[in-house]
Amino acid sequence: MQKNIAISACLLGENCKYNGDNNLNNELLNKIKDYQLIPFCPEDYAFGTPRETMDLILIDGEIEAISNENSNNLSQPIKDYAKEFFDKHSDIELFIGKDKSPSCGVSSTKLYNSDKIIISTNNSGLMAKEAIKRKIKAKDATLFII
Ligand code: SF4
Repeated sequence: MQKNIAISACLLGENCKYNGDNNLNNELLNKIKDYQLIPFCPEDYAFGTPRETMDLILIDGEIEAISNENSNNLSQPIKDYAKEFFDKHSDIELFIGKDKSPSCGVSSTKLYNSDKIIISTNNSGLMAKEAIKRKIKAKDATLFII
């Protein structure tokens, strides 16, 4: 049976990156061309494109996505989207996330403390965390081997 892969939409060439651009990765797409791809973009869904950038910040023991523009906490809409996505697509076998993204990165996203000092460079984005929590195999786009 064909494997269902959830993948960051920007890797497929969708212009959903914060600045209206994309992260098209033809080498990756070539490797997974025979699989069923289910794209997602929590940030475009929640905030539209273009949009403000955000970073993961550790606040009171919780990892939150905080706007770089106005310091608003943007976590909840991303977490809600992730839960709905995986509830709807319960047959996902593999998650491929855009590296370093505060939503999609898998063990490649920077985590800051409240003084905006980097405390980790191998965190996962909020949507990737939901995939991992559900025990879905998760891979960073840069480290992808099928
Ligand atoms: S990395 Fe994730 S949130 Fe950012 S543009 Fe790509 S799919 Fe959207």
